[in-house]
Amino acid sequence: MIEICEVGPRDGLQNEKKPVSTEEKVHLIEQLIDAGIRKIEAVSFVNQKVVPQMADAEEVMKAVPKREDVTYAGLVLSRSGLERALLTPVDIVHVMIAASDQFNMRNARRTVEQGVAEQTAVMKDAGAAKRPVAGVIGTVFGCPFEGDISISRVLKIADAFLQAGCEQITLADTTGLANPIQVQAVTRAFIDEFGDHTPLGMHFHNTRGLGIANSLAAYQAGVKIFDASIAGLGGCPFAPKAVGNVCTEDLVHMFEQMGIGTGTDLNKLIQTAQWMESVMARPLDGMVYRAVGA
Ligand code: ZN
Repeated sequence: MIEICEVGPRDGLQNEKKPVSTEEKVHLIEQLIDAGIRKIEAVSFVNQKVVPQMADAEEVMKAVPKREDVTYAGLVLSRSGLERALLTPVDIVHVMIAASDQFNMRNARRTVEQGVAEQTAVMKDAGAAKRPVAGVIGTVFGCPFEGDISISRVLKIADAFLQAGCEQITLADTTGLANPIQVQAVTRAFIDEFGDHTPLGMHFHNTRGLGIANSLAAYQAGVKIFDASIAGLGGCPFAPKAVGNVCTEDLVHMFEQMGIGTGTDLNKLIQTAQWMESVMARPLDGMVYRAVGA
């Protein structure tokens, strides 16, 4: 059995240029829940001038169905983001930093060391506010500016995050540079260091077509939690450096075909992907939803 964290409403839409209304986002989330998805990264609390698609985070969180069995995550990159998140009913706060100095310098004008100090303080504040927190580490499998990232650096960040109270670590391949052998090496190193009881998620982008291969490699090395995006949202052809997430229903199809449960209804996910295509008014990157009837 694996667990999917659906990131389409956040990471997917964030990388799409076409504006999607609050009502459409909420309807997407309702359909995902109906299809059996139980964890959704629904929003991010970031500067709306930088990411206009996420400007309605508070409205989305106000309107989504509140259910005991559904966990909503909100991404924050700073203390001001956390302050916004704490005013909403998000169940868990995802706090992120990249493992690359150059990536952090370009995006947040800080080194990894400075960023870890800032983000662990944010995590402790979330904990003090009794809000669960998970740590997301970006560019784990390579950085477009810095190149290779050492596993020891990733483990050091993960250790700081766990010490600061994170209940899960997610390792993200921000720009789709990972390969399956590398994914297994990083996963094994993580489990060697923190044990297999420490929840570990993987967040792959399909930038170079390896998202699903990397997901399988991670599963074989012991990972049970996967971020994925319905219909592979996020690969907008009009956005520079289009970087879609690994596609939810493609991932579900693979695991279910292999006899590994996902707790979801593939047909309903496919219907949701088809609806999403009509909203975005263009063919999306998912393969399985377009193969229906083939
Ligand atoms: Zn991502």
